[in-house]
Amino acid sequence: MDSSLYPIERLYEAIRDDEAKAARNKGGSSRRIRASEAGNCARQIFYRISGHRAAPRSSTSVMLGVGGDADHDVTRQMLGHYGIEVRQVSHNEDGSVDELLMDAVEFDCELPDGTTERVTFSSRADGEIDVPEGVALLEIKGMSYWPFKYLKDAVKKGPEATLAHLHKKHRRYLYQVEITMRIFGYDRVYFVFKDRSFGTLLGHLYERDDELWAQIRREMGLVWKAVREGEPPRPLIEGSSDCSWCPYHYLCHGAMKREQQGKEPAVLYPERGE
Ligand code: SF4
Repeated sequence: MDSSLYPIERLYEAIRDDEAKAARNKGGSSRRIRASEAGNCARQIFYRISGHRAAPRSSTSVMLGVGGDADHDVTRQMLGHYGIEVRQVSHNEDGSVDELLMDAVEFDCELPDGTTERVTFSSRADGEIDVPEGVALLEIKGMSYWPFKYLKDAVKKGPEATLAHLHKKHRRYLYQVEITMRIFGYDRVYFVFKDRSFGTLLGHLYERDDELWAQIRREMGLVWKAVREGEPPRPLIEGSSDCSWCPYHYLCHGAMKREQQGKEPAVLYPERGE
């Protein structure tokens, strides 16, 4: 490591090195759809499951991931500290937490043309918690200031407005919990939303929605079929905010042009020219 750099510069340099190495050394992908990715662009899921190499994560993505893990740990510890039990997690002596609900299960997914794909879904749950209606899965979501503020406005209007807001703005969360409930056999999820700026927490109880689950199965069945046939689903329109974070953007947009210009695979490591 370059000792002429200051600590934070060294930190970012080390993160970039690690991520570049991880991208280069990446092995094959597991053939299963993760609950947390089911709400992503279908083509992005296709690329991951088909084994394409993801571009190195940016240091911002790495920091967000670390912050997300910390949000989970802090929230569970806070609940535990005040006597609200979170089960299905084990707290280790070194301060780390193991989530015990982790599994992969196959489901039959009926496609719009009436055929069926047998799709493997996987998930890891944040824990199990008691609510007045009975036992629920726990799902913790750290949110940045503005999304949290809009959600808080909806929560103030009541559970129906909150649910409508989740459908409109955070459909990914609903896809994730619908799959996770089916894998582990729960009827409800208790969401805890955490504002990353101020630490404020909000709760919302969400019950299984069979219609949404049928829709998820249809959509994921189509992705599965696309993977089996090696035919990527249509891309989103360039400029979509999903695309700006997508690790397969380099493959999806302009790859042919870059290839013609002899720039592959440098596109994976632009800053190094490798
Ligand atoms: S770049 Fe956009 S369209 Fe392409 S896979 Fe990623 S999110 Fe989907």
